Amino acid sequence: MDTTKPAKPVPHPTPLSAPYWDGARQGKLMLQRCAACGKTRHYPQMLCSACYSTQVKWIEASQRGTIHSWTITHHAFHPAFADELPYTLVTVDLEEGVRALGRYNSTQLLKLGLPVRLRFENDAHGTPGLIVEPEV
Ligand SMILES: [Zn+2]
Repeated sequence: MDTTKPAKPVPHPTPLSAPYWDGARQGKLMLQRCAACGKTRHYPQMLCSACYSTQVKWIEASQRGTIHSWTITHHAFHPAFADELPYTLVTVDLEEGVRALGRYNSTQLLKLGLPVRLRFENDAHGTPGLIVEPEV
């Protein structure tokens, strides 16, 4: 093992975000849905942006959506990612009406509106990250 390579940052779940990370470790994308008005939100937040309720239930997302935008990363924002360059980050409009960020894993040409599926993949340290691939 190369001990000179910096470690990747790891998530530190809080009571607010723990259901998201628990789901991710099981391969499920969990979203918050307001228990008062029904608005879905992502990432985990304390209050509903529509009605300011703190009441929430968690739903399992379909993990399907369409490409909203992307960027190709040529410079690592953290040194632990330097040997993975270049990589493509995409934002996906999920079927549930919220947007999620993930890493694109395909040689298929990207285009706006491309139907995609999301799945979690663990890195070498067991941290789940969202992988985005074209719908087959
Ligand atoms: Zn609400």
